[in-house]
Parts: sequence; structure tokens; C-alpha cells
Amino acid sequence: MASTDDTTHRTTDDETEGSPDPGSALKTARRQLRRAADHLDIDPNVLERLKHPKKVHEVTVPVERDDGTVEVFTGYRAQHDSVRGPYKGGLRYHPAVSRDESVGLAMWMTWKCAVMDLPFGGAKGGVAVNPKELSSDEKQRLTRRFTQEIRSVIGPKQDIPAPDMGTDPQTMAWLMDAYSMQEGETIPGVVTGKPPVVGGSKGREKAPGRSVAIATKLACGYYDRDLSETTVAVQGYGSVGANAARLLDRWGATIVSISDVNGAMYDPAGIDTASVPSHDEEPEAVTTYADDVISNEELLTLDVDVLVPAALGNVITRANVDSVAADLIIEGANGPTTFAADSALEERDIAVIPDILANAGGVTVSYFEWLQDINRRAWSLERVNQELEAEMNSAWDAIQAEYDRRDVTWRDAAYIVALSRIAEGHEARGLWP
Ligand code: GLU
Repeated sequence: MASTDDTTHRTTDDETEGSPDPGSALKTARRQLRRAADHLDIDPNVLERLKHPKKVHEVTVPVERDDGTVEVFTGYRAQHDSVRGPYKGGLRYHPAVSRDESVGLAMWMTWKCAVMDLPFGGAKGGVAVNPKELSSDEKQRLTRRFTQEIRSVIGPKQDIPAPDMGTDPQTMAWLMDAYSMQEGETIPGVVTGKPPVVGGSKGREKAPGRSVAIATKLACGYYDRDLSETTVAVQGYGSVGANAARLLDRWGATIVSISDVNGAMYDPAGIDTASVPSHDEEPEAVTTYADDVISNEELLTLDVDVLVPAALGNVITRANVDSVAADLIIEGANGPTTFAADSALEERDIAVIPDILANAGGVTVSYFEWLQDINRRAWSLERVNQELEAEMNSAWDAIQAEYDRRDVTWRDAAYIVALSRIAEGHEARGLWP
């Protein structure tokens, strides 16, 4: 296993706006960090440390295809910071998975856990593979072998993976099984997002979408906007987008557009979200249920009250930001807004509720799952949803206090809350040796 500790590398000028590939997760994450740090009296040594991951593990994963040939994939696990507790974050199976993407996403997990005041640090990883090209058996073999390759660096007290793009509860069950078989005992707490029958939490799958809906409700409340008079467009109809759209629909909002990879359904009178299958229920079917189909790009520019990008990263960019017409953006995906687009939205007074709060329901219920696994005692769905709402409310209150106190964006306010907690942790623990 290759392991890189790059604490000695200083951040270079390639972070400046206008450099090639400005949208990469790592560059965006570093720029956001630097911007938020300007508002805080943070020890520059702690800040320098936070620009870099603690470790990045890179592994090769040989997998026997169904036809008997062997293909070798590359996998990563980036561990960013663990001052507040074990590393935590998802594993994605996607062709774009890379070292830098894993590091950027791991940094966001550090802030996300801190903003929610969870006793975890940040990690992320995955395998560079197109999961649509794998059979279920191939996906299982890939997962088991990848688990084995990263086994020494994960564990319930060390680093706890979870689902992300291209992975699901079944993937997590295989990971738990592979890990447990090698350790000689059943260890459910090594991973979250499992099926409830093997120690998963009720409500975990719907939690990221639920938190997006809660964040929308809180933001609308802040701006005195009644949900019953609010129009919403949601990009992505997977576990985040579909669950957010359905809850907001149930709470009285008018969902005028939803989409998947094939395009978007548009109905200004409001879509009955329950009647359109989510990606998990019937993959990539949204447009087949639509009378009026528009493109994903058009969805982003609809004149709605609330826009929820809940599919991919880097969809609101310098190129399309001037056409965004929503008053409020709630980030369901991780990193849907590039740094340049964020500045343009700020100039136009369009509020952006950041991913590290809006979709944090996933990792928050992952924390509940981890507690249930350690205590060997399952919680009811009512308890999970109640405690999630309470955690979202207190994170919102902390962020809103900073937002009201300073002349900053909602993202800055969330970073200020997260960074203060992390910096305090580093100052309290000090540097080893
Ligand atoms: N992958 C999810 C995220 O980006 C969940 C991570 C977790 O539950 O650890 O927040």
C-alpha cells in the first residue's frame, strides 16, 4: 500500500482563481478554507496543517471479471484530519475518483462533521471505476478486495466509511462482511449506511435528503418565506434529491422540476413527487414520466424560489452562474458550486446554504448508526428523525449567529463554526512530539 504524508508540501499558486481546472474539489476546498480563515484569528500553523491531508492511501484492486479476465482498478482513502475523533466519510465508485478529488472531499467531511459537532474527523475515498459497467458479482468482488487493501487503515475507532456516489447499503454490507471475516468477529461499527438487518440505522438512507429539506425549511423561515408559496427545482432524483423533493412536497412546497441523467421533468403547476420513481426505485426513469422535458442545464436556470443541486459536483460554474435565477440555493450534492460561481452568487445576493450543512443528515445519522452499533441497541425511526432535526436546528443556530454577526456568506458562516471548533481542538491537543 502506498501511503503519502504530504505535510511538508506548501500550498502553491495553483489555487489562484483562473488557473486551469478551477473546479476540482481540492482546489475549491482549499480556496474556501483560506477565505473562511480570513475571518478568524486562527493560528497560521494550524491553518497550514489543515490545507493538507494527514494521509492518502492509494491501492490497486485486481478484480476477476465475469468472463474470467482480470482488471486492475485504483482505489484511494484520503484521511484529512482526526483531531475531533476517528476519520469519517464515504466511498464512491465513479470514473472521476482520484487522489485530489478524495482529498478535497475528505476536507469537506472534516468541516461537515465539525459543523454538526460530531466526534469525527474527515475522510473520503473510492475506486476509479464505472459501477454501471460492473455486474453485481463483480461489484461484490471489487468491494471485498478493496476492503482488504484498506483494512489496516479503517476500523470503528480509526476510520469509518459510508455510502457515496455509486455505492449503497449492499456495498457497505459486503465491506462489513469482508472486514469482519478477516478480523474473526462481527464488527458492524466499521462502516455506516448498512442495511438495518446487519446493524444499519433506520432512516439512514433518507437522511441526506431529509437534511436538505430541513435546511430548506430553516432557510425559508429565515427569509420569511412560506413553504406553501415556494417553488423548488431539484437536480438529481437519487437518494438525496428524491427524498428532499418528496419531503418538501409533503411540507407544502411546489416542486416544479426534477431530473436525472437523461434530463428534467418540468411542470409549473407542481409535480406529484410520490408518483415519479426515484433512482433507487427505477433507475434513470424521470423523463419517461414527463410530459414536458427540459435539459439539466435549463433546470439550473429556472426562475424558481429555491434551487437544489443534488446530483454532481461543479454544476454551477462561472459559465452558467449568470443565468441562475433562483433566490436561494440549497446544496444537496457535495461541491455543486465552483468557487468562481460562489463569488458571482454572493455579488447578486443569492443565498447559498452550503453542502456541509444541507446534506449533513447523512453523516449525522451515520453517527447515530455508529452509536447504535457500539451499544448493540437499535433506535426507532421516530427517534432517529427527531434527533436529526435537533442536530440540524442547533447547527443552523450556530451558523445563523455567525451570519448575523458578520458580513459573510452562509458558507463562510458554516466554515467559521467548523474551523473554530477544529482549531480549538488542535490548540488543546498541541503538536506531537
Ligand atoms: N457520503 C456522505 C457524505 O458525503 C456520508 C458520509 C458518512 O456518512 O460518513 O456526507
